[in-house]
Amino acid sequence: MSANLWKTQIQKHAKFLHLTTVPLVYADLSEKAAKTALSYEEFLALLLDQEVAKKTDVSVQRRISVAKFPFLKTLEEFDFSFQPSLPEKEVLRLGTLDFIDKKENILLLGPPGVGKSHLAVALGIKACSARLRIHFTTAQALIKQLTIAEKDGSLVDSLAYFSRLHLLIIDEMGYMPISNSEANLLFQIISTRYEKGAIILTSNFNFDEWGRFFSDSVVASAIIDRLVHHAHLFFVNGASYRLKNKLKKTL
Ligand code: ADP
Ligand code: MG
Repeated sequence: MSANLWKTQIQKHAKFLHLTTVPLVYADLSEKAAKTALSYEEFLALLLDQEVAKKTDVSVQRRISVAKFPFLKTLEEFDFSFQPSLPEKEVLRLGTLDFIDKKENILLLGPPGVGKSHLAVALGIKACSARLRIHFTTAQALIKQLTIAEKDGSLVDSLAYFSRLHLLIIDEMGYMPISNSEANLLFQIISTRYEKGAIILTSNFNFDEWGRFFSDSVVASAIIDRLVHHAHLFFVNGASYRLKNKLKKTL
């Protein structure tokens, strides 16, 4: 067969097999293989490596964009020297995602600007990189979504969706008052995931202050109870990082 016919056949098979990188890189790689005397096996392994690397990257990027994080920040970007109230080693260890396997929660409590959302997003990005099913939301958006689902009769489907996630991130618990019926919806989510799937939750309020936004203290206690059991609890009490940047600018 002539070189052109081989080329056409490779393109055709690659298309049929949904291989998008192989047809782009095989020619260069086979030239290199000939020059460096790679074995057929080595050549095939390297070629498939490139296809897999590209596909993994695309799938991770898709997960990150679907997650709709409020911003993209990584664990590596977190400046622990600015937040000494956080145990660096312990937080970095969470980056191994062991807590997701163990179905444990992470609770980040503290005043605004101390990096709670940053850490939640960073761990969410790690989970996307590990190709896990994650959902990022604020408490307010979650309540709204569940209220709509309850009204249109799809609450059971919503709860099933939330129970299938590897990781649910609930940011900003306590920004708005939570009525009794809303608290009940939140309770259903938390109890659906209890010991079945990991949750990361952030709040500006310590648990003893949750009565401020929950009108039903019994449901609030039941939620806290399930969240805290099997949880990594961090009280971040340092200064606001936002303020630090502002102060720098004015100096
Ligand atoms: P919180 O959720 O606690 O209100 P954020 O996580 O939104 O605070 O942090 C506010 C901003 O400051 C974000 O842009 C975040 O990336 C940044 N930030 C906060 N703490 C740190 C830190 N220790 N190192 C690097 N950036 C930080
Ligand atoms: Mg935040």
